[in-house]
Amino acid sequence: QDDQFKKVISHAKEYGYVFQSSEIYDGLSAVYDYAQNGVELKNNIRDYWWKAMVQLNDNIVGLDAAIFMHPTTWKASGHIDAFNDPLIDNKDSKKRYRADVLIEDYCAKIETKINKEIAKAEKRFGDAFNKEEFISTNPRVVGYQEKINTILSRMGKSLENEDLADVKALIEELEIADPLTGSRNWTDVKQFNLMFGTKLGASIDTAMDLYLRPETAQGIFVNFLNVQKTGRMKIPFGIAQTGKAFRNEIVARQFIFRMREFEQMEMQFFIKPGTQKEWYEQWKKTRLKWHLSLGMGEENYRFHDHEKLAHYADAAADIEFKFPFGFKELEGIHSRTDFDLGQHEKFSNKKLQYFDHEDNQSYVPYVIETSIGLDRMFLAVFSNSLVEEELDNNTTRTVLKLPAVLAPNKAAILPLVKKDGLPDIAKKIVDDLKWDFNVVYDEKDAVGRRYRRQDANGTPFCITVDHDTLENNTVTIRHRDTMEQKRVKIEEVRNIIKKEVDV
Ligand code: ATP
Repeated sequence: QDDQFKKVISHAKEYGYVFQSSEIYDGLSAVYDYAQNGVELKNNIRDYWWKAMVQLNDNIVGLDAAIFMHPTTWKASGHIDAFNDPLIDNKDSKKRYRADVLIEDYCAKIETKINKEIAKAEKRFGDAFNKEEFISTNPRVVGYQEKINTILSRMGKSLENEDLADVKALIEELEIADPLTGSRNWTDVKQFNLMFGTKLGASIDTAMDLYLRPETAQGIFVNFLNVQKTGRMKIPFGIAQTGKAFRNEIVARQFIFRMREFEQMEMQFFIKPGTQKEWYEQWKKTRLKWHLSLGMGEENYRFHDHEKLAHYADAAADIEFKFPFGFKELEGIHSRTDFDLGQHEKFSNKKLQYFDHEDNQSYVPYVIETSIGLDRMFLAVFSNSLVEEELDNNTTRTVLKLPAVLAPNKAAILPLVKKDGLPDIAKKIVDDLKWDFNVVYDEKDAVGRRYRRQDANGTPFCITVDHDTLENNTVTIRHRDTMEQKRVKIEEVRNIIKKEVDV
């Protein structure tokens, strides 16, 4: 499992999907950049969601609200008072630390020890060294790994149960010391707000404290009436939005699963009070269907219905996906009642009510929210698609079996050789197809190697121009997953590809 995850991370880097942010400065923790292929995959996932939500639903419209919002928004939403993680002060040094980060750092130290053991063994065994086997069988390494898992899972549990005393007890048990002074004289663990703060305005006296939004939802709520009125929307209706959100996360160690700057795709569906149960069930079904439409295996999804509910919800469920590190939340579906609109009414002193002509009454609508992390969806798609296949001739090939609709490039156009006019024909095909979808031209290396490269890049089709092309205007079209090749007329290529990549 761990190895599969490592492969995912290194493949994402090697093939230009995801890079660590500011890598030349040794990176910034839990912040990532999307590279040439990653940005295309990410855009395609976003489009696929947007089409399903906005384009295909007459009663859902889009919005692009600003990241900065009036600070009272976050008072009203509850984020200032209840969006917290644990914090601890050192009495001697007067330094403040995140309790969970101290514990994480402790685990990172154990990880360094593991790496030292590996390096030592590698030196000793030379070419005969099998790293995977060593990691899974060496008693010292296995012990270290177990220790890390136990510590992190215990911390996770106490945070979930808001048992801060237990977090403190863990710090004491592990004899964790202040990283700067070595002192172990801690105060109690307190709550720490996850929002990033910043300032609006230059003057010290008048600068206003702002927050980078920790979710996109509030931009939708504060615009509810503007959109309803100008769009003449009738309940039930939805507002969809994609955009960046920021959280000063605690356990930020799972690649793009948990980032400090990430993107959400959220939809708030406004309904009549009393109908929330049906709509909640309906959206759970609709969202699961959307996931399944990508063909990534029904067995990789499951619902997790929440028993402990957030302060704003009367029902909540996660759609969990089987990531390389196990089933984890991918999307949340929440029945948020009239909490948010009601709070914004209270704090803004503005009515946020809907006049229902059928019932001849005004009310604050109830809300069903669907909220999915774009980066998390990226990781789900990417990790699920990366496979190593044994071939008949006893070799293996690495294939990124991305759903064709999401693949960064839909086809690679390859001249068999770099002469006899084949490159010119290939480039002409590129120029012709690029108006419809992303295609790439590749003439370097033997054609077999080029196929492998495109397989690993996730390109669903390879179009090869050879000497027959000169005679009869045909090319071969090779399918990434089946590796089957067919000879077709050049004019047919566009439609063959379109059939698979169009939604
Ligand atoms: P988690 O329990 O994993 O922290 P959450 O319950 O706080 O997530 P929500 O506030 O419901 O998450 O956010 C909705 C979605 O946004 C999540 O389902 C997830 O896909 C995504 N998301 C939340 N936090 C992050 C993050 N730090 N990095 C990437 N995606 C995130």
